[in-house]
Amino acid sequence: DRKGSYTHIKIDSGAEPLLIGEGYCTIIAGPCAVESEEGYLQIARFLQEAGAHALRGGLFKPRTSPYSFKGLGREGLEIMLEARRITGLPLVTEIMDVRDLELLGDNIDILQVGSRNMQNYSLLEELGKLHKPILLKRGLSATIEEWLLAAEYVLDGGNPHVILCERGIRTFESYLRNTVDIGAVALLKELSHLPVIVDPSHATGKWKMVTPVARAAIAAGADGLMVEVHPDPDRALSDGKQSLTPENFLKMYEQVSRISRLV
Ligand code: PEP
Ligand code: MN
Repeated sequence: DRKGSYTHIKIDSGAEPLLIGEGYCTIIAGPCAVESEEGYLQIARFLQEAGAHALRGGLFKPRTSPYSFKGLGREGLEIMLEARRITGLPLVTEIMDVRDLELLGDNIDILQVGSRNMQNYSLLEELGKLHKPILLKRGLSATIEEWLLAAEYVLDGGNPHVILCERGIRTFESYLRNTVDIGAVALLKELSHLPVIVDPSHATGKWKMVTPVARAAIAAGADGLMVEVHPDPDRALSDGKQSLTPENFLKMYEQVSRISRLV
């Protein structure tokens, strides 16, 4: 129990300081992957005007098939840095491997540990040595205890800046991509001092379900959301089916803001 030592996660790299945690509703948004400079800068500008607090974009993508688009890597980083210069918004991207620590650690504001890497303990230990926020996604089939112990690896290494992200888990149910655990959000707010956000995009795999699940997450006490938004989801190189159009992002944002004022 570290509730006594609660502090917000503060990010200073953007145009304005960003606080994440209790009392704030942080919206991280952007495409699944950075695909092109034009497309990314366009969506980044849109998201900044729409009120998003941070930009996501995958550079190194953990794809199920090795033949799928695996991200632009280093080349895409330049595009994200340009987006931060233009919008003043902090950047979030996934780190898949300790070998990318120098490249991403020096440039990215929030490092995401993906579901598939939640129990990559050597990666977690390295991230524990940084003084940089870590967005720790729940493992594909991780229990809450396993997830909290994974967070503990980072905390114990000396990095207190961990954000938990519920992104759905594998169950017998297969209609949606995953089964989102809203109860876990409420429970984690009891068990832990760490900020908890929800990713309704990977949790559901279907864009139509993103807004209802986003509303539920905020109503259950989540400190924010991470959502996939693409200028043209039908043409996305990954996760188009779960990506919101800019127009649908605006609708989600409006509905979620109403709920976050109530809770
Ligand atoms: C992502 O957010 O880009 C991602 C790959 O999600 P997850 O690790 O939750 O599958
Ligand atoms: Mn994705």
